[in-house]
Amino acid sequence: MIQQQYPSQLLEKAVQEFSKLPGIGRKTALRLVLWMLRQDDADIASFAEAVSKLKAEVKYCKVCHNVSDSDICPICADHRRDQTTVCVVENIQDVMAIENTQQFQGLYHVLGGVISPMDGMGPADIEIDSLINRVGEGEVQEVILALSPTMEGDTTNFYIYRKLAPLGVKVSVIARGIAVGNELEYADEVTLGRSITNRTLFEEK
Ligand SMILES: [Zn+2]
Repeated sequence: MIQQQYPSQLLEKAVQEFSKLPGIGRKTALRLVLWMLRQDDADIASFAEAVSKLKAEVKYCKVCHNVSDSDICPICADHRRDQTTVCVVENIQDVMAIENTQQFQGLYHVLGGVISPMDGMGPADIEIDSLINRVGEGEVQEVILALSPTMEGDTTNFYIYRKLAPLGVKVSVIARGIAVGNELEYADEVTLGRSITNRTLFEEK
């Protein structure tokens, strides 16, 4: 549906693109586009370059699937970190949130989602097999499940636990200091840090 209220098709096109962003309606998109029009050419070029390079050049760590500029991310490459403990998270924002707490010295495994049949996300759609293979290599002694305390998070925890059980690795879950339904990435650093420190052994319910 083309709305004819714009005096320029270029403006219209830019508004269309901005309004594809999550949480951005057409009104906000227009405000952003008009703001951009007032910026220096160099600023706009740098903005456009950052966006186009991001998708073309960004990599995902071959070990933990965190976003990275190289094949192995700086966290996995840091040998001062505890290589025997792996914290399983849903997404890259969760890695950043946990890193901000400075309470965790182990490594991560980014699933890239959780099991959610309603959204058509099954175990094969997220990085579970690579986690099992990674643990199977033998160096990992503890897997900490740090998924959101939602039904999908619980389902995923349980699925991973059942897959890891035969490998004899310790499986723990972060303490539920976080209110039910809250996303991990929005938890404050103190609460999140404490919930990792106070993790408990996973128990089949
Ligand atoms: Zn990594």
